[in-house]
Amino acid sequence: MHSSTASVDRVRPVGTKRSNKRDFIVNVFLRQEGHLSADDLVDLIRREDHRISRATVYRTLQWMVQNGIARKVDFGEGRFRFEHSYRHPRHFHLVCKSCGRSFEFLSSDIESLMEEVASVRRFEMGQTVLQIHGTCEACRTGHPQGAEKTTEMLFARDALRIAIATERSGRDFYARAARMTKNTRARTIFQRLSGEEVDHLNKLESRYEELLKQDADLESRPPFLFFKGAANGLFSAAASELNKVSSDLDALKIAIRCERGSYQFFKKYGERFEDSEGKRIFLEFADEERDHLNLLLGELRAYTEKRGRRPAASRGAHSARANA
Ligand SMILES: [Zn+2]
Ligand SMILES: [Zn+2]
Repeated sequence: MHSSTASVDRVRPVGTKRSNKRDFIVNVFLRQEGHLSADDLVDLIRREDHRISRATVYRTLQWMVQNGIARKVDFGEGRFRFEHSYRHPRHFHLVCKSCGRSFEFLSSDIESLMEEVASVRRFEMGQTVLQIHGTCEACRTGHPQGAEKTTEMLFARDALRIAIATERSGRDFYARAARMTKNTRARTIFQRLSGEEVDHLNKLESRYEELLKQDADLESRPPFLFFKGAANGLFSAAASELNKVSSDLDALKIAIRCERGSYQFFKKYGERFEDSEGKRIFLEFADEERDHLNLLLGELRAYTEKRGRRPAASRGAHSARANA
């Protein structure tokens, strides 16, 4: 897994005997998926090198936590577990009481609720922990599920799905706006934006295809990101609003609201994520939405300046007549 190699390169200390041991422990840790207890890691290490002491493994785990390689999680079992932190997005957990496995997810809707509560209570948010305890599907049905994939892949897949859904609704929105407008200049802008959404869409779709090549079952794996009603609903709700507006200016304002909302959403989440493919997808998409927003804002300025000038010009005509 190339992410592991990258993080080991990043943190490799001077080549002392002790740091070689540390490298070895870090490598074994990064090869694992999921949430390991300290004792799980001790067992894995001692299977490969029985000379490494329990204390060394514990010390190295502490060191990994301090250096942002591992994150400590508490599933209420009376002991901590450890998961990858580097290139691993922040998330919530489903914890199975039967097999002890845990599964990761992230929901923007839950996060906004938490932010709302904290803000109303004037509480400065630090770490938030959310766990759903219960029984997993495999334990409930007796059908073992396929090997768990890295959260990073699921995250990239879901980030692309959200970006693709947003592009699709954006493309449809602009195509409809272009059909409805009576103003040639506005039509040109809307057509251009619709065209750009199609270009981006093609790029995102081929990136999605590339990702699927890395794992044949990727499409059917359970979702990681729950971003319901977040970004992908923005433009589709706005497309029906277009029927109710009477002027090109109103259509322009709706487009600006959508692009701004989309830009802010992808930027906010992109910046919060740890370094990963999913983060890059969010930030690149935010950049594209920002460009669209700036284009539309320029258009709005041109539109309002033109309108502002018209009464001034007619005033001029009146005064010219008055002088005559
Ligand atoms: Zn289970
Ligand atoms: Zn986790």
